[in-house]
Amino acid sequence: MATIYNGVKVTDGITAGVEERKHRGLEIAALAKIEKKDGVYLVPSQTNPKHPKYKVKYHKEHPTCNCPDFHERGCRCKHVYAVEFFRQRELNSDGSETITESVTITKTRKTYPQDWPKYNTAQVNESRHFQELLANLCNGIQNPVQHRPKGGRLSFPLSDAVFAVVSKVYSTQSGRRFVADLNEAKDKGHISELPHYNTIFKFIEKPELFPLLTSLVEKSALPLRNFESQFAIDSTGFAFCRFVRWYDIKYNRFSAEKQWIKAHIFTGTKTNVVTAVEIKERDTADSSQLPALVSTTAKSFNIEEVSADKGYSGQESHNAIAAVGAEPFIMFKDNATGGIGGLFQKMFHFFQFKREDFLQHYHRRSNVESTVSMIKAKFGDSVRSKSEVAAKNEVLCKVLCHNICCLISAMYELGIEPVLTEN
Ligand SMILES: [Zn+2]
Repeated sequence: MATIYNGVKVTDGITAGVEERKHRGLEIAALAKIEKKDGVYLVPSQTNPKHPKYKVKYHKEHPTCNCPDFHERGCRCKHVYAVEFFRQRELNSDGSETITESVTITKTRKTYPQDWPKYNTAQVNESRHFQELLANLCNGIQNPVQHRPKGGRLSFPLSDAVFAVVSKVYSTQSGRRFVADLNEAKDKGHISELPHYNTIFKFIEKPELFPLLTSLVEKSALPLRNFESQFAIDSTGFAFCRFVRWYDIKYNRFSAEKQWIKAHIFTGTKTNVVTAVEIKERDTADSSQLPALVSTTAKSFNIEEVSADKGYSGQESHNAIAAVGAEPFIMFKDNATGGIGGLFQKMFHFFQFKREDFLQHYHRRSNVESTVSMIKAKFGDSVRSKSEVAAKNEVLCKVLCHNICCLISAMYELGIEPVLTEN
């Protein structure tokens, strides 16, 4: 069997077998979820998803796997290659390595840069930087002109209220600790007044906050515009504390189901910053959100490529990405034929005939999963708010907090000084 690999035609039987395994390995690394547990990589079976995951012990020269292929041949199987590709993907473009650890609370992965001294300094100083950057962002908010009602008091300044609401989500704890943080912010001049606790609860219920927070998310990504050109999109659900109740005839009782909303996230694959976000009801189709997220990002970023899973596949998505001069790397549905012409067909042929090249781009998509894991691990995967308006605002606050944390990492790792006050 002849295989073309890196432009070289390989006809030798044994070598062809190796290349075949590399291909399969790359496919697994791009499409399946590889996890690391107790120093062993768990790789799903490609042919049978119900089969227990294969265990790969990584070693530069002598890796091992517990699959039959490795057992029979004693040399690198497709699972070992998958792990090698997976590890390679975790290598940052600057050559530093990213260590992947499991976060036990949420059972998701979170990536930490290996540069521990810089990472630690960023962590130690995070809350201080957080307040400064958030205050800078809030400074740009226009406070509406107020007229003091007779005998009444002025309502709370909008910029201070936004600062308080976002800080509340950042602190992730209720009550005292958060009040201490706000006191500190007032002492430093980040806010002009100390809001009452109830004011913050009332404020997050306001629908006007939604467009304001959305624009703050977009604005907070701007200092990273020179670092990002490859993007990925995905959606994720956040549960909130309201139940839909209905009468279940079958069981003759009331049933309840937890409500959740869906965040559609567009992220840079290098810094994990969220450049555009849409918060919708739980049942919105993924692909319908793609064009808006692409065009919002394209206003400030130079998009070269966008990767997405097959939930986004379709002519509309391909065309929306092409419209901003970027290339779409969207996984095709199993029944796709490509016979509809245009860019969709072109990319489908690319996928069919240069699968390895295609997958090299496509596997950047896993970075959007990292972004989602980072947000949920740090700020929680459910919201405290009970109304849908407040729940949507709260999710936007989580995304904004994540972006500010990305800026803080970038200050230490990329040496940037984020400027957020310009309009
Ligand atoms: Zn194996």
